[in-house]
Amino acid sequence: MRLLIIEDEQALHNALRKGFEKSGYAVDTAMDGEAALECFYSASYDVIILDLNLPKMDGLEVLEEIRKEDRTTNVLVLSARSEVEDKITGLDLGANDYLAKPFSFKELHARVRALSRRDYEVKDNAIKIGDITLDMTLKKVKVKDKTIALTKKEYGILEYLMVNRGKVISAEAIFEHVWDSSADMFSNAFKVHLASLRKKLPKNFIKTRRGEGYYVE
Ligand code: CA
Repeated sequence: MRLLIIEDEQALHNALRKGFEKSGYAVDTAMDGEAALECFYSASYDVIILDLNLPKMDGLEVLEEIRKEDRTTNVLVLSARSEVEDKITGLDLGANDYLAKPFSFKELHARVRALSRRDYEVKDNAIKIGDITLDMTLKKVKVKDKTIALTKKEYGILEYLMVNRGKVISAEAIFEHVWDSSADMFSNAFKVHLASLRKKLPKNFIKTRRGEGYYVE
């Protein structure tokens, strides 16, 4: 899952990036409204975390621009301005959720998890397909009853395929949702991680449709 975090307070910005990266998300960040829109136009995100008080361009303006382009990307608004008015304006402009500062990372994390799940018709935090159980809260994967050790990228690929169960997903789309903007799309990183992931799973769990992409049934 890939996040865009738009927050200009350096300490919070860094803490959020670190926290979400540690939890296995691919994370891009922006420090002001203009940089945020540049990221938005060049990638596709599962969730955007948007602070309202931003330099160059206000968060609500950023939200308005995002919604002109796209109604579907999940946006969670953060605000130190606790006025009810901001919350209402944010939700009117199409934010999916709102969290007032100060907040606990645990709370933010839970909300982001709920939002990113929403797009994929996944109701529980654990998805079971065949012998494989994937726990989206703990980021753990079991084959039958045995937990297997996956790297963050291996986990990310498997999670993206499992939440999209039954759909053929192109290598480009998986790359977009599992890697951040510092990664080179034309490297063979995706193939390397996919190959090592497949070795840890039952044979043929991840299927290939030649020329189109990958899927799990
Ligand atoms: Ca701010």
